[in-house]
Parts: sequence; C-alpha cells; structure tokens
Amino acid sequence: MNPPPAPETRAPWAQRAAALRPDGRAVVDGRRVEPIGGETFDKKSPIDARLLGPVTRGQAADIDAAVRSAREAFEDGRWANKAPAVRKRILQKFSERILAARDELALLETLDMGKPIQHSLGVDVPSAARCIAWYAEAIDKVYDEIAPTPRNALALITREPMGVIGVVVPWNYPMIMAAWKLGPALAAGNSVVLKPSEKSPYTALRLAEIALEAGLPAGVFNVVPGFGHEAGEALALHPDVDAIGFTGSTRVGRKMLEYAGRSNLKRVFNELGGKSAYLVFEDFSDIERAARTVAASMFFNQGESCNAPSRVLVQRSVADAFIEAVVAQAPRYQPADPLDPKTVMGAIVDEVQLRTVLGYIDAGRAEGARCVVGGAQARTDSGGYFVEPTVFDGVRSDMRIAREEIFGPVMSILRFDTEAEALALANDSPYGLQASVWSDQLSRAHRVARGLRAGTVHVNQYDEDDITVPFGGYKQSGNGRDKSLHALEKYTELKTTWIRIDA
Ligand code: NAD
Repeated sequence: MNPPPAPETRAPWAQRAAALRPDGRAVVDGRRVEPIGGETFDKKSPIDARLLGPVTRGQAADIDAAVRSAREAFEDGRWANKAPAVRKRILQKFSERILAARDELALLETLDMGKPIQHSLGVDVPSAARCIAWYAEAIDKVYDEIAPTPRNALALITREPMGVIGVVVPWNYPMIMAAWKLGPALAAGNSVVLKPSEKSPYTALRLAEIALEAGLPAGVFNVVPGFGHEAGEALALHPDVDAIGFTGSTRVGRKMLEYAGRSNLKRVFNELGGKSAYLVFEDFSDIERAARTVAASMFFNQGESCNAPSRVLVQRSVADAFIEAVVAQAPRYQPADPLDPKTVMGAIVDEVQLRTVLGYIDAGRAEGARCVVGGAQARTDSGGYFVEPTVFDGVRSDMRIAREEIFGPVMSILRFDTEAEALALANDSPYGLQASVWSDQLSRAHRVARGLRAGTVHVNQYDEDDITVPFGGYKQSGNGRDKSLHALEKYTELKTTWIRIDA
C-alpha cells in the first residue's frame, strides 16, 4: 500500500503547502475536540514565518479529560484485553496507513519544524511506520517466564500493561519520537495521552486520527497539544497517569522526576540531551570517510539531534588533514528552502532556538575558539530561521561550546595526543548518549568502546542503527531505553503469581 512517487520539484510541494489548513484541535476519546476553556495559540512555520493555524493550548482540564478517556479505555479492556495477535493486526494497519499518508505527514512535519522535505519523506515517515510495525509484529512473539521453584509451587513471572502512559516529546523528530513511545506502549496494551511539543503539534494529531481509522479503539490514543509548563506539567502531575515516557532536555527531565515525586510516584523514563564524542585516531586509514560521516551526522536535521556528534576529538597528527576534509564538506550543507526536494539543510525550529544557536557561536568566538567555516545566520530574506553549517577548531573541554548542548549545526573540534587523554576528554561530560571510535586497530576500538560512558558506541561509522537496538543514555542523558524489545520493559509491570501445588 505504498503511495505514488512523491513530487521531485519544489513547485508541487509549495502548492500543496499553500492549500494546507491543518487542524490543531486535540484528539480525545476518538474525536477532535475544542479546547475546554477555549485557549489556542498561533503556530507559525520556521521556513518563512507563515501562519499555519490556531492550535489548542491544552490546560489541566483538557489533560484531565484525555486521561479520563484513556483510563476508561484501559479499565474496560477494549484494547488491553485484546489478544496480542489482534493488537498486532490493528497496529500493522496503523503502520500501513502512516505510509499511505506519507506526503501529507511529511509536508506537515516540514512546515511545522523546518526539516527538508526529502528527510521528512525518506526518514521520518518510514521510520515512524516501521517502529509501529516492528512492535506490532513483536507483541505476539514475546513469552512470559516460569521460575525454577521447588516442585510444590508454580511461579509465573508475567508482564502486564501498566495502564495510562503519558508521553511528552520534543520537536526535532516529532513523529519518530512519538512512535518510539507509542509502538511499545500500545503493543503492550496500554492507553496513551500524548503531549507533542508546542513547536511541532500537527503530525501527532494526524497520527491519532490515522490510528482510529486503522481500528484502534477510541480513548486508547489521545493527543492534547499545548505548552510544557501547562499541558505537559498537568500530564506529568496527573495522579491517574501510571508512567511518563519523556524525550526532551535534561532541564525538563529533572522536572519530570519532581512531578512524579510530588504526585503519585509514577514511573518516569527520561530520554534526554547529549554532547556526543567522536574520536578519530591517527591509525584510521580513511580520514576522508571519517570527515564525511561527521559532517553528515552533525549537520543532519540542522544539528537538532540529541545524538549529533558535536564534540569531535582528533589525534593531533591527523587533525589538520581531518579539519580540512570536514570544511570541504560544508558547502553540501548550506541551508536552502526545505520545500525543495534537493535541500539537505533546512530551517532552525523557531526564532528562540535560532538566537540560542547564534549565542553559542558568539560564545565560542569569545572564549577563544576559531571558527573555520560558517558562523552566521543564512537566508535572512526568507523570513525563516537558518544557520550556516559551522565548525570551530581549537576548542578546549572547558568551553561552553564543548560542554553544553547547542542543538544547532555547530561542531566543536578538540585535539588530543594519547588514547588515555582522548578517553578522559570523551567522558568529561555530564552527558553520555552516544560516542564513536574511528580506528583500524581492533583492540583499540574495543578498548576505547569499553571505556566510553555512553548508551551507544559506534565503531568506524556513525548513526547507522535501527529499531532492533536500544537507544538511550548514561548519566544525565537519561534512563530507560527506547527501541528494541527492551522498550517493552518501560510500559509493563512485572507480576509474580505464586501457586501452591499440593502433593
Ligand atoms: P524540551 O525539554 O524543552 O521539551 C520537550 C517536551 O517537554 C516538549 O513537549 C515541551 O513542551 C515539554 N515541556 C517543556 N517544559 C515542560 C514542563 N515544565 N513540564 C512538562 N513538560 C514540559 O526539549 P525540546 O527543546 O523540545 O527538545 C530538545 C531536547 O530533546 C534536546 O535536549 C535533545 O537532546 C532532546 N532529545 C533527546 C532524545 C533522546 O532520545 N535522548 C531524542 C530527541 C531529543
């Protein structure tokens, strides 16, 4: 059920964008609903600041209605009690329909948060669909356990759905981040209330409608848009929410833990920020490939990726050659109109984020790092928010651009002399999401990979991974893991049933 080929030139996308009137109302209990108190906000596109429309500014009452609907759906078993094979079939249909709506979803994502249409089409929509399909296919193949008890007992160790899951996601990969939570949470039989980012609400709302069309019962998947300090906080404080699946900043992740402490001790699974280290050793034979890969990974999604390799550590003897090769890549990533299918770097999500990124570029210069390429705003006449791909050389580990997550197309390069120094530098961060080692020596690659405090370590590549492996971080990059069968653990409770067997 694949859709016809997508348009390959800008004009048809621009035409479709002009005709689009996205619906910003919440989806609760199986239908679009007006905001209870009538509050809305204007959502603009970062491409050219065009108004996309009014979106529900969800308040505590809207969240409460969604949680009640989700609770009712959970308690009466309309989804949780369905056989896994039945849930599988409905979620497979959900995935198929996401793919069938590819062009519409891709256009919404691009207009909403500024990423190039080629990536919305080629990455975001198919990845979200594959994630849902993967958990659908998995759920009737996971077995429970029987404990090795004495013969006078039978002890079952079973996993049960948790209940109502609150999901709060960021704007950088709106559909994919939502799918990473929805896939395992729904497959396991839970009900969900999703609060998308106020900067990218539209695709989540459409996903809820598509799920209903696929046969997901009303109330099982609700979406309430709104701001973090209003709808997000109300969801995380709600006494009838059993767990929060959160992806976002470490700052808000801390709040999620506080909300749980102040309310019902709901489980909190935080997927947070990163400042991932990319270690290039002199023994790696293909410096060009290491440079191409770091540019592609760093500048993908305008640098707005939690796992962007933003701290690049290069052995001194190859640093000049490596930096020259990275700089040579920069022209490929010049920002352009996201609606043009040839564009590879789009718009920064909004003016606030644009100012943050430019502020870090100023800080890098002020602290003595050398900007070797980029370093400025771009396409200022478009009305949108664009930044050149930017590379700093001569960065020290104590500089802000080496320590803090910038979330824009800004790469910091540090030089090292020895393996021990490289490892110490790489681990000198409050974050521990991902890392990468580039070396031709098998033992060095393994040794360094073992020493890196990160949830994922790549060797001689970056960013090639898929739904089959866990994704998440050490330290302040979070707890819990998205993706793979391990994600099911977050949305299920473990129950022991001990049965006496009389002789
Ligand atoms: P953010 O923390 O500002 O917002 C994330 C979500 O939380 C949004 O929906 C927002 O409305 C909500 N929120 C904000 N304040 C809140 C509050 N007080 N209470 C409840 N909810 C609140 O993050 P962002 O700017 O949207 O996204 C960027 C961050 O996300 C980066 O730090 C990035 O590294 C991280 N991220 C992590 C992963 C991962 O898998 N580890 C993936 C993608 C993004």
